[in-house]
Amino acid sequence: MKTVMGTCALCHQRCRLIQSHIFPESFYKNVYSEETHKFVTLSTNPTQPIGLEQLGIREHLLCGQCDGKVIGKYDDYIARWLYEEPVTLPDRYRYSLMFKGVNYALMRLFQLSLLWRFHIAKGHGFRSVDLGTHSETIRNMLLTGDAGTANYFPCILMHPKDISPTLTGGITCPVSIGTDQWPVCRAIAVGIVWMWIMRADASSNPMSEFAVSTECQMHIVLGTDKISDGIKNEFIVLDRAKDMQPNADKLSKWGFGQ
Ligand SMILES: [Zn+2]
Repeated sequence: MKTVMGTCALCHQRCRLIQSHIFPESFYKNVYSEETHKFVTLSTNPTQPIGLEQLGIREHLLCGQCDGKVIGKYDDYIARWLYEEPVTLPDRYRYSLMFKGVNYALMRLFQLSLLWRFHIAKGHGFRSVDLGTHSETIRNMLLTGDAGTANYFPCILMHPKDISPTLTGGITCPVSIGTDQWPVCRAIAVGIVWMWIMRADASSNPMSEFAVSTECQMHIVLGTDKISDGIKNEFIVLDRAKDMQPNADKLSKWGFGQ
C-alpha cells in the first residue's frame, strides 16, 4: 500500500497518515452485504447514484496513534453502547426513550468526533459541514478528553419508526437542515438520525434537553409515521419539534412556524 505522508489533522504532527474511517467501522456492521462484503452508499444528492464501496468511507487524515488511541477510544465506546446488551432498559416516554448510565464524556466526545471528522473530511459527501473556528476548539477537546458542556454542539438522536430496511442498514452523508437561527447537521447511520445543533450554546433550544446530559441520561427521540419516507424528508426535525414542544414561544425560538 502506498505510504502517504502528511500532517495529522488531530495532533498536527507530520507523519505517515493512515486511512481513517469517517464513520466508525462499527457503523458498517449492518451495512455490509454478506454475499459481497460491500456496502450500499446512499446520497441525498440525486446526481449521486447509489453505489457499492468496499472499504468504507475513509480518507488519509490521521496518524496511527490518533486514529487508534484517541478517536478509537470514542469509536469503541459507541460500538459497545450500540451493540452490547444495555445495562438498563430505557424509560419509555411519549416521544422518546431515555437511557441512563450513558458515559457523558465518551458519548459527547464520540458525537463531537464524528462531527469533527465530517468537517475535516474532503470527500464530496462532507462539504456541507463547516465548523469554522470551532474546529480547533473541538480538536483540542478530542485530544485532551474534555467533553465540555452539554449544550455545546449537542447531538440529538432520533429513531425513525417506519424507515425502510435499506435505510436502517444504510449510511447517509451529513446534510445541512434547520434554520438560520438553529442550523442542524444531520446524518443517518445504524438506523439512527444523528442531528447536531450547530451552535456553541444551544441551551435555549428545546431539543437540546434530549442530548446526553451530565447526569448521564440521553434520549432517543421516537419518529412518527410521517417519517416513513425517510431521508428526503427535511421535516423530520420540524415535525418532532412541533410534537414535542407545546410551548409556542419555545417553538418559535426553535425557528419553525405553526
Ligand atoms: Zn496524530
